[in-house]
Amino acid sequence: MPHDQSHFFPGVEALASDVAAIGLGSNLGDRGAQIASACGRLAEALDAPVSSKVYATEPVGYTEQPEFLNAVVIGRWSGTPEALLAVLHDIERSGGRTRGTGPRFGPRTIDLDILLFGTIILHKEHLTIPHPRMHERRFALDPLLELYPDLVDPLSGTPFSQFAAQLPSAGIYEYGKPPI
Ligand code: ADP
Ligand code: MG
Repeated sequence: MPHDQSHFFPGVEALASDVAAIGLGSNLGDRGAQIASACGRLAEALDAPVSSKVYATEPVGYTEQPEFLNAVVIGRWSGTPEALLAVLHDIERSGGRTRGTGPRFGPRTIDLDILLFGTIILHKEHLTIPHPRMHERRFALDPLLELYPDLVDPLSGTPFSQFAAQLPSAGIYEYGKPPI
């Protein structure tokens, strides 16, 4: 596995301290194009980026909305978590579109969340890492586990696969190949 730090944590897999995992989601407009465009922007911002496949997922929580496409991108980020969040907001603001396409002030059709950043535990007003709801979201865990099957939650030391195993497996399926 790339970035495997298991020699520091025998028997478990952790992200290297400068590696971030970012969750992407879109359920409005040309979802595939928005996921692909946002992945392209992330690939420019991160070193050694890799992407999961794209997954189609039925909405959880507020279910009266269209099906989502989700993916996870993992790569090296040499700045602070806050600076990475600013990059994600910038990509969200441009709607995941490349310059010159789509309405300038169109609806926000892409959501980007920092799921993990190394083994950092951060509780700030505008930024919580690990992402506080990732443990209960199959659409975050499944693409993450595709890339890092043995990854362990920095908060609890529990493998993320154990969280995923406790969630219903219905409502999520592989939709397309990795965009990058
Ligand atoms: P959500 O992603 O929860 O559906 P939003 O995308 O509107 O909702 O996020 C709202 C705010 O969540 C962001 O402005 C950001 O400051 C905050 N936030 C807290 N932790 C994180 C994180 N780990 N990744 C991304 N945003 C986060
Ligand atoms: Mg968000």
